[in-house]
Amino acid sequence: MTERTIAIGNRRLRVSNPDKVLYPETGFTKGDVIDYYRAVSGVMLPHLRGRPVTLKRYPDGVEGEHFFEKSCPEHRPPWLHTVTVRRKRDDTDMHYCLLDNVSSLVWAANLAALELHVGMAAAPALERPRALVFDLDPGPGCDVLDCADVALRLRDRLADLGLEAVAKTSGSKGLHLFVPLNTRGATFDASKELAHRLASSLESEDPDRVTATMSRSERAGKVFIDWSQNTEHKTTVCAYSLRARRRPTVSTPVSWDEVEGARRAGDPERLSFTAADVLRRVDGHGDLFAAAARKRQRLPG
Ligand code: ATP
Ligand code: MN
Repeated sequence: MTERTIAIGNRRLRVSNPDKVLYPETGFTKGDVIDYYRAVSGVMLPHLRGRPVTLKRYPDGVEGEHFFEKSCPEHRPPWLHTVTVRRKRDDTDMHYCLLDNVSSLVWAANLAALELHVGMAAAPALERPRALVFDLDPGPGCDVLDCADVALRLRDRLADLGLEAVAKTSGSKGLHLFVPLNTRGATFDASKELAHRLASSLESEDPDRVTATMSRSERAGKVFIDWSQNTEHKTTVCAYSLRARRRPTVSTPVSWDEVEGARRAGDPERLSFTAADVLRRVDGHGDLFAAAARKRQRLPG
């Protein structure tokens, strides 16, 4: 076991096994994961703010066992913040990790928490969604370009309602479209209802290529618009999170021009980004997902 100490502000963090390869196909190590999260923290932290985080940990790398960790580990450092979530099911309190500064991101990365998943709401108002989400999943025979097509149609339908939307890759197979809300009146009932209504409407327009129903048998050759993620207890991978894929891909915010460009070029690779790509993009144009955390919009009544 090797150890390294890194200084962040006036805090010193112990990092174990920084040379351990977590992505065997590319040789991306735990140290690289830590360096990535440290470098991306400036644009990522606004999207983690107040969010109970679910850690998806891969102690032996992407080819090894993994587990979801919702309850923040007991061995966390004393300075790490947590957020308490009251579980309605059995009326017990759950303490989630709150990753609200660079040190806590590095601490999570050191646990090989490659993927960071968050809900739509932030503390203290955990009953209020900060955004509405459409999770676009390509069924068998479809890819991210089919998702791009559906995302653009959804964007236009939302624009007709006076709503702006932003997009990111999932870092895996599909795309995520967010409608920023960030207003007091927002409710999961309303966001889920609108998401369901638009998903069903796109399905009726193009039933051969779009489905709004969960059943797996319905999905071949189609894009599944998952509207049901608009629920208090459900998570979506956080913007800028790594994914545990063969390569260190990232859930990457993209501009609508890029979504259109990729579709026009017929090139799915244009919607796939690794950690190194993302850091270059952030240097170039900052946070393309900033509106998700900041823009205030009201759903039509
Ligand atoms: P893809 O593009 O491959 O669909 P994705 O991240 O959108 O990637 P989904 O399977 O569509 O993956 O799930 C959407 C979100 O739901 C995930 O980002 C994750 O936060 C959450 N999720 C999915 N499966 C689980 C699970 N088994 N346990 C906890 N959360 C999950
Ligand atoms: Mn998905």
